[in-house]
Amino acid sequence: IEESEKFRIEYWELEEAKLRRMPPPRPLAARVALVTGAASGIGLATARRLAAEGACVVVADRDGQRAEAAAKELGGPDRAVAVTVDVTSEDQIRAAFEAAALAFGGVDLVVNNAGISISKPLLDTTAAEWDLQHGIMARGSFLVSREAARMMTAQAMGGDIVYIASKNGVFAGPNNIAYGAAKADQAHQVRLLAAELGEHGIRVNGVNPDGVVRGSGIFAGGWGAKRAAVYGVPEEKLGEFYAQRTLLKREVLPEHVANAVFALTGGELSHTTGLHIPVDAGVAAAFLR
Ligand code: NAD
Repeated sequence: IEESEKFRIEYWELEEAKLRRMPPPRPLAARVALVTGAASGIGLATARRLAAEGACVVVADRDGQRAEAAAKELGGPDRAVAVTVDVTSEDQIRAAFEAAALAFGGVDLVVNNAGISISKPLLDTTAAEWDLQHGIMARGSFLVSREAARMMTAQAMGGDIVYIASKNGVFAGPNNIAYGAAKADQAHQVRLLAAELGEHGIRVNGVNPDGVVRGSGIFAGGWGAKRAAVYGVPEEKLGEFYAQRTLLKREVLPEHVANAVFALTGGELSHTTGLHIPVDAGVAAAFLR
């Protein structure tokens, strides 16, 4: 056989071996999910939804007390465990995955959700604030995904990594340089990792919530009141105001974001990777702010 023909055969044998390795999607009831920032808001709603679908859940949050309460609510040690982890720490992330392996044998679904929001005008944003924002969201999700990939490739069972990114990582508005840029970084991590991990059966997708999901900690600390003042509506009417500006006239809540994580990981979208699903009642589609 000619050299080129030999190469072709070897190449396809290799590709076939990869295909044989490709694991079929598993139902959530057979899976273990680690959700960062799961003690509150969108992360907690996601943990609740995945647990309701039968997954074992690792509630990974830097707020250990609230993480413990969430794990208890989700069914206690047989169904959910809490780990105190700051996603800016490589050691703590490694320890979190080790704890997950100890509790449930491994992890095959990871949700990069932990985040904070520093949304300020350019001239008011300090270098320290930029570092803090990017440290938690851009660097933190990179570190979590790297540890997830390490575990998932070793398990050789495929898996899912989902990023809770944002409409703000795709569309621009004023006074959002640190947060918006960190979300854009996450958005490209989704594509880059989808490209790199696909051959291991690891799918990487993102969910882009509207920028104003209430019922989460981001709205605590007077932020809701500030937004209400900006829009000139009473704070208790903010939900209605947000709903009115969407195409569907519906307010987006943490549960709706959790539904998208379920849609991506529940088995039906087994051939989808590198995608971002908007959960914004149409705000991005119509270029509304
Ligand atoms: P939230 O404040 O309710 O929850 C964030 C959680 O992350 C908290 O439990 C917090 O303790 C945890 N956390 C923060 N820093 C951490 C760190 N360094 N290590 C580990 N845990 C940490 O906020 P949320 O609104 O539910 O936000 C969740 C994600 O959704 C964030 O990434 C946010 O950017 C994104 N998002 C939110 C909205 C919104 O309007 N609420 C819109 C789009 C995207």
